[in-house]
Amino acid sequence: MKELHSFGWYASKISPHLPKKAFKPVPARLLGGLAYLIITIGSMVAIGLFNLPFIVNLGLSLIIGASFASLGFLGHEILHGTVVRKAWLRNFLGGICFWPLVTGPKLWRKWHNMTHHVHTQDEENDPDTWLTKDKVDKSSVLKFIYRLPFSVRAFFEFLSLTFTFTLHSTRMFFIYVKEFKPKKQWSVWMQFILPWATWIGLMFFVGFSTWMFIFFVPLLIANAIVMGYISTNHRLNPQVPVNDPLANSLSVTVPKWVDVLHFNFSYHTEHHLFPSMSSKYYPMVKDHIKKNWPHLYHEMPMSSALKALWKTPRIYYKGKELIDPRDDMVYGSLGYGLDHEDIEPRSRMEETPTDKKKA
Ligand SMILES: [Zn+2]
Ligand SMILES: [Zn+2]
Repeated sequence: MKELHSFGWYASKISPHLPKKAFKPVPARLLGGLAYLIITIGSMVAIGLFNLPFIVNLGLSLIIGASFASLGFLGHEILHGTVVRKAWLRNFLGGICFWPLVTGPKLWRKWHNMTHHVHTQDEENDPDTWLTKDKVDKSSVLKFIYRLPFSVRAFFEFLSLTFTFTLHSTRMFFIYVKEFKPKKQWSVWMQFILPWATWIGLMFFVGFSTWMFIFFVPLLIANAIVMGYISTNHRLNPQVPVNDPLANSLSVTVPKWVDVLHFNFSYHTEHHLFPSMSSKYYPMVKDHIKKNWPHLYHEMPMSSALKALWKTPRIYYKGKELIDPRDDMVYGSLGYGLDHEDIEPRSRMEETPTDKKKA
């Protein structure tokens, strides 16, 4: 077992070497949000008013979808308090940014800030971590799904990235809304209902085919973009008993211009060390991590991470391994034998003496 440290431990080693300004909010990030908002509304108006050819409408849908995703990345930053400090303004701006992804700011802070960040890759308490073999064994539906051939599962897993964020967010709403005090529940409900009401109301206002181009197709595209990152953030890493971001998170690398468009969302390990720091300073944090713990840090190009995701099964086995229950083949996770250049199953699951006894 490797020695694990909490995110606070790593942060305390790096903090003294960072400039004071790195711990201050960066309101200038809002200019990027304003640009995306103008592009989004401008493209929607163009689709609605002009009788444009199908292909032009589709191109504009792509632009709207990409803007939805970027607004989501900015909303994530804002709701961590790294852009403005005032709570009401933070929630208001975060709410606008997450409007297209239909996620309320109060729900997001509870689910993401207070739960995912605190319990990252904890088998029981991280709402975003993937299934374990024990859970699959207990569900006949899951057992059926995992009996499908590997490539079929991988194909549907990737296809589902076009709606997983919205689906997961809706699921989180129904799980977490009950945990708010009764007095606050109505506002969490409103933050869920209002965005849906806007988007569905818009369908009656502009007509179904226009609505497909200005909301539905962009929503699929935005889901695919945000899930492209989210699915690589932790799913190749092990589940761990200590919330150690170097063990349980992966930073992907993308071309510089993509980092600019996506507000440095690729720096996920850095984000877990300093969630309340503006992502503007994450390249600096990365340098320090690589200097101090080069052997513990996980980083790979986005394309390799997606390839690794395609080639490995999505069920945790004993925390550090991934297992394909169809043939009981076991694969490593990052730091525990997963070599993204050459992904091969390591071995067939060995029966433990207790398994034999149960049988
Ligand atoms: Zn994360
Ligand atoms: Zn976060």
